[in-house]
Amino acid sequence: MTELTDLQFDQQHLWHPYTSMTQPLPAFKVKKAYGAIIELEDGRQLIDGMSSWWCAIHGYNHPELNQAVSDQLQNMSHIMFGGFTHDPAIQLGRLLLEITPPSLTKIFYADSGSVAVEVALKMAVQFWHAQGQPQKTNFVTPRSGYHGDTWNAMSVCDPVTGMHQIFGSSLPNRIFVPAPQTGFHEPWNQSDIAALENTLAQHHSSIAGLIIEPIVQGAGGMRFYHPEYLRQAKLLCEKYQILLIFDEIATGFGRTGKLFAWEHAAVEPDIMCIGKGLTGGYMTLSATLATTQVAETISQGEAGVFMHGPTFMANPLACAVALKSTQLLLSQDWQGNIQRIERQLEAALSPLAALDHVQNVRVLGAIGVVELKFNVNMKALQQEFVQRGIWVRPFGKLVYVMPPYIISEQELKILLEQLAEVVKDMEQAA
Ligand code: PMP
Repeated sequence: MTELTDLQFDQQHLWHPYTSMTQPLPAFKVKKAYGAIIELEDGRQLIDGMSSWWCAIHGYNHPELNQAVSDQLQNMSHIMFGGFTHDPAIQLGRLLLEITPPSLTKIFYADSGSVAVEVALKMAVQFWHAQGQPQKTNFVTPRSGYHGDTWNAMSVCDPVTGMHQIFGSSLPNRIFVPAPQTGFHEPWNQSDIAALENTLAQHHSSIAGLIIEPIVQGAGGMRFYHPEYLRQAKLLCEKYQILLIFDEIATGFGRTGKLFAWEHAAVEPDIMCIGKGLTGGYMTLSATLATTQVAETISQGEAGVFMHGPTFMANPLACAVALKSTQLLLSQDWQGNIQRIERQLEAALSPLAALDHVQNVRVLGAIGVVELKFNVNMKALQQEFVQRGIWVRPFGKLVYVMPPYIISEQELKILLEQLAEVVKDMEQAA
């Protein structure tokens, strides 16, 4: 048997996210990454526009984060959380309670965003069960949402754009309402909330919770909607006795210009999921936060405990780097920095809105989106971006960037100039 090259082995044996095993998209081999630069094996350097899917907020190979990991390694990389506790979990918990909605007081550490969502949904069901309402097991959610790839997380993703429609009837049947239509910067249109109100009026007796990504719907369409939607949704949840669950996994840690997106609306949820940027992208960790009322009710229920406990719960290495990453963020003028990125994104991307083949350009915080009128050829476009020395991974009709916050003005300038040129060139192809 002839020896496979590394890339051949990768193509033939390693599954990549949302990728065919018979016709895989090419994967570029990365040697290392530092700051906002990703260096390929052949020496090419790419300016990172993706923060490894929202995570690497401080860029790569950050000396302080490296130090936090190696310091923690000297003590222990992991210890079970059943029966034990440790400083990284405690110190991180203290800090998280300072920066998340004041009404959230209890933290459940989990391993990934999807698991945090599973945990949130289970909390909501157990909450109502403990209140003698075991029929409240379903969830309502707006279309265009995305909450992860595990079974119940999938069930609350948009049935079409959420990439899971193929699972059809094997998924629990959730209740979908139209996605919020009023844009973040547009005047609020009261009719936007009508569908949610009607749905809750009709189905509230079977609904445990409303799950929603506050302000920014991410992988389901990169849509920015009006904060008033959240304010009214909160009132409706109170009126119809439904728990409000915010999925801040993508929006958290400054990405939208606020530390967490709920702050745009000043609406506090009953349960909130965080992840991704939590560890600065160093490793996987998430958390589901709950109010005292949710936690106490669950604990007084028939089971007496919350029924979940992952092996790697509160992994000390992950908690230590999450603590350092969050401290690092808070120690800087992160808001001023996000505004700098936002201004640059606006200046560079707004002119693209005039192109015939561009549907819409939108910017919020350190997120810039160019929505085209047609689906992109991801393979061709990704090659083109790499040839131009930038890392942007489009999907569907969306070419978007969410760079690491440490990206310099010059790096961002090059990233956006190259992106703009590629988008302009697509006019001929259109
Ligand atoms: N919720 C949201 C809003 C997300 O963007 C994602 C990841 N794209 C998830 C949940 C799932 O997180 P993970 O991939 O870490 O399971």
